Amino acid sequence: MISDVMPTYASIDLAFERGEGPYLFTKDGRRFLDFGSGIAVNSLGHCHPALIQTLSDQSEKLWHCSNLYRIPMQENLAGKLTANSFADLVFFCNSGAEAVEAGLKLVRKYQSYSGRPERFRVITFGGSFHGRTLATISAAANDAHKAGFGPMVNGFDIVPFGNSEKVRAAVTKETAAILVEPIQGEGGIRPAEREFLAYLRELCDEFDLLLFFDEVQTGIGRTGYLFSHQGADVNPDVVAIAKGLGGGFPVGACLASAKAAAGMTAGTHGSTFGGNPLAMSVACKVLDIIQEEGLLKNCVERGVELRTRITQCYQNYPNLVEEVRGAGLMVGIKAIVPAGELVTAFRNHGLLTVPAGDNVVRLLPPLIIDQNHVDEALEMISDAFKALT
Ligand SMILES: *Cc1c(COP(=O)(O)O)cnc(C)c1O
Repeated sequence: MISDVMPTYASIDLAFERGEGPYLFTKDGRRFLDFGSGIAVNSLGHCHPALIQTLSDQSEKLWHCSNLYRIPMQENLAGKLTANSFADLVFFCNSGAEAVEAGLKLVRKYQSYSGRPERFRVITFGGSFHGRTLATISAAANDAHKAGFGPMVNGFDIVPFGNSEKVRAAVTKETAAILVEPIQGEGGIRPAEREFLAYLRELCDEFDLLLFFDEVQTGIGRTGYLFSHQGADVNPDVVAIAKGLGGGFPVGACLASAKAAAGMTAGTHGSTFGGNPLAMSVACKVLDIIQEEGLLKNCVERGVELRTRITQCYQNYPNLVEEVRGAGLMVGIKAIVPAGELVTAFRNHGLLTVPAGDNVVRLLPPLIIDQNHVDEALEMISDAFKALT
């Protein structure tokens, strides 16, 4: 492959021409069942007719206009997000890393605005992933992502995921916030215990820190709740979302309580593209469809089916898989053989999945899948297991 694209991705030699629902098609007509959804992005599958209509209608009216002016569709989307969450205020951007970055700035601003400018550090966790900007690689523990890019942004204290005592011990006079993924995605579909998240909430209340959830992957229905922390019944102060929000259109958002966002006044933060009418109209439609079409319920039911049936299936191949875990349609297959071999075998049988840390294969199907798609996936998984033994 000769290409002028900077080779930062280890892409495999496979390209798609079009998508329809949970399927992707190559130019030569091969069909794949897409249980990766562009890494949890195509939440309503590919080319959802209502999203096509919304995008095309909006494209004839207004694509971009600066935040120098009011953008009414931002107000619509912000209203939908706050009406269905802990949040009072929303900042719009274009990606997950930008949403996390906005939250990191917000938590520092909260503390300085509250008269404690010495509080700038954020406690984060081993195995986490928060994006690829300088601040977000600094926040996470992945050395490969940091190599050669130093010095890192100062102000992150990384502790073992799930270890309450280590978190408490890491709180100092300089701590501003705790940043955590309720279920680690890139780290290998590693769910935080409900008790752990509740403990973080108590700790934040005790020391007046902000609790910041990175729901870029878990948010917007993926786990069967609009936000996965709603399933744990633990309220954060700040949440970053992106991936599934635009159903394939790039858009991110940072949600916060009014108290946490008090310092985010005019001129403190911004984005040229953030909250543009195309992104806003599509994201509004995505939220409407998720809520009106019972997709959260579908996500829970298909998720249980998928996890149960994969678990049954691998019992016949005990040397391949160790466990199946996750929530809703965020499913992790913890492999015994190298996870990459499973991903390849699945793909050879027509099923697209995504590798993750901890030797895990991720299944992140669109929330619109039905029982037939689960049947089809299980046939492919079973055939792939057979071929591997
Ligand atoms: C994907 C992801 C990000 C980064 O999102 P980008 O849109 O790639 O910048 C941040 N946090 C989590 C939890 C993610 O899964």
